[in-house]
Amino acid sequence: MAGANERSFIMIKPDGVQRGIVGDVIRRFEQKGYKLVGLKMIQAPRALLESHYEEHKGKKFFEPLLTYVGSGPCVAMVWEGLNVISVGRKMLGATDPSKAEPGTIRGDFSIVTGRNICHGSDSETAAKREIDLWFRPEEVANWAHTAERWIYE
Ligand code: GDP
Ligand code: MG
Repeated sequence: MAGANERSFIMIKPDGVQRGIVGDVIRRFEQKGYKLVGLKMIQAPRALLESHYEEHKGKKFFEPLLTYVGSGPCVAMVWEGLNVISVGRKMLGATDPSKAEPGTIRGDFSIVTGRNICHGSDSETAAKREIDLWFRPEEVANWAHTAERWIYE
């Protein structure tokens, strides 16, 4: 289906790993019908995080953010499917968990912005940049979902 090859970079931050939420995040994206095409656990070096969060450089939360996300392993993922970038952001919920709806990942599992469990690309440009930053091309799998005709019309 047209657009079903859209990809988003979704990451579970170290708090999500420590709190045992990895399986739940993966389950939600799998059950939605999205296709997992990249997955790895990585404790990100500072340079990678500086680049990943370059838009926030200079803001007061920048240094605490790099310390937080670099403090332990993250689970970095690439998910594929129709509108996965915008729908993935809705599944994560608002950046500030106090504004995130119940039923979203942040709404269900977190309380403060500085420990909000997960990251998701916010645009096509960001998704491409982030996937290229975190994954080598051969680390992203091209595979056919046998259930595809039951997910898309
Ligand atoms: P996101 O795209 O929803 O993750 O939000 P942003 O791109 O605006 O910010 C990136 C990350 O920085 C957020 O997910 C938070 O972990 C953190 N962050 C953003 N704003 C604040 C803030 O005001 N205070 C703190 N402590 N962290 C923030
Ligand atoms: Mg962002």
